[in-house]
Amino acid sequence: MKEKLNGRRVVAYAFHPHVLYVLCSLLTAAHGLSDEQREFQKVAFDFAANEMAPHMAEWDEKEMFPIETMRKAAQLGFGGIYVQPDVGGSGLSRLDTSVIFEALSTGCVSTTAYISIHNMCAWMIDTFGNTEQREKFCPDLCSMEKFASYCLTEPGSGSDAASLLTTAQLKGDHYILNGSKAFISGGGDTDVYVVMCRTGGKGPKGISCLVVEKETPGLSFGKKEKKVGWNSQPTRAVIFEDCAVPVTNRLGEEGQGFGIAMKGLNGGRINIASCSLGAAHACVQLARDHLLVRKQFGETLSNNQFLQFKLAEMATKLVASRLLVREAATALQESRSDAVSLCSMAKLFVTDECFNICNQALQMHGGYGYLKDYAVQQFVRDIRVHQILEGTNEVMRMIISRNLLTES
Ligand SMILES: Cc1cc2nc3c(=O)[nH]c(=O)nc-3n(C[C@H](O)[C@H](O)[C@H](O)COP(=O)(O)OP(=O)(O)OC[C@H]3O[C@@H](n4cnc5c(N)ncnc54)[C@H](O)[C@@H]3O)c2cc1C
Repeated sequence: MKEKLNGRRVVAYAFHPHVLYVLCSLLTAAHGLSDEQREFQKVAFDFAANEMAPHMAEWDEKEMFPIETMRKAAQLGFGGIYVQPDVGGSGLSRLDTSVIFEALSTGCVSTTAYISIHNMCAWMIDTFGNTEQREKFCPDLCSMEKFASYCLTEPGSGSDAASLLTTAQLKGDHYILNGSKAFISGGGDTDVYVVMCRTGGKGPKGISCLVVEKETPGLSFGKKEKKVGWNSQPTRAVIFEDCAVPVTNRLGEEGQGFGIAMKGLNGGRINIASCSLGAAHACVQLARDHLLVRKQFGETLSNNQFLQFKLAEMATKLVASRLLVREAATALQESRSDAVSLCSMAKLFVTDECFNICNQALQMHGGYGYLKDYAVQQFVRDIRVHQILEGTNEVMRMIISRNLLTES
């Protein structure tokens, strides 16, 4: 095995189906988990190793949205992990969800990140929808027969999401939507769009949440964006031109949309941080394997104390990051008063630290790390965007400090 890793043949090995599963016990992070959690963690690691890791380079290169693989993941219960069982969900906790997304991301960050957005949308419909809406949408989303997208960002409103301009005018028993959304993950290839739009005056209180189905007349999509990473999922603008959506597709009451969007994102931020954990987890392993076999100055790089210390720091930051994510997940599950801050802290700290870990792992690979034959560069490219979306890390700082400064 070491011989293989020392030369170009590492190419095959870097994407070998089992390379990411054979992990150090310190890194697998099963400690502190219940037997049941260890069980589905193993299922997720196996799925990542067998169904995702062998294809992640091809999905990236050819920009393939792996629908059938995601449907297989849904058969394991990963299409509606924290959706209630009566509508097809797995009914698991936020912590369980984090454990699953971390494990899946070792096989493909981009695909797992999309699955996490899909889960967030399914949870929003499950939680804020009425019985008819839950029964209409959730079963097909949980089985991933249908796919969902989350539509908040607009060309003119990103960080300042509450300034969104897409309008929904009530006409009889329909809302007429006009406007456009930018950067929508899955956009154009998905079936169900959870759209934040303006039904009232300025600011967050004028925003409502509508579920828009793909075949609705007046709904169209922009070109597929060319991206640095996250290439196994399409990103497009979503455009509404006199798009008539039944009032029965509104989640919650008029004016509650922004709150619904933010509640979805609290969980989304833990999920995205968990995807970063999976990438860092895989990259520490890849760096370790490389140091053990790559020889320079007559000995393996693993004998170099500078690199040993770097590896130790990477592993330490990974474990610290995981602890924060799991604390935030538990706080959200228990609806604790510090949950929103902790979710933001987890997103800020973990997506920054895990990007640095992956980038350091790439550095340890030297020139090979910059070649697309090696998995490490894809992890770096795929998780860079986690510092930007679901609220930028600057916005996370705003939320954390605002909560600190206004707490009585
Ligand atoms: C690949 C990809 C997928 C995405 N998927 C989705 C999706 O599915 N659904 C969706 O709704 N959105 C999605 N987004 C959009 C994403 O959430 C936004 O890009 C993000 O919220 C930032 O908005 P912006 O790009 O308009 O940046 P801007 O808001 O213009 O910010 C630019 C920079 O200025 C900083 N900044 C802004 N205001 C302040 C301030 N007051 N203080 C300090 N710094 C500030 C920001 O942090 C950022 O660094 C996606 C984006 C990408 C790249």
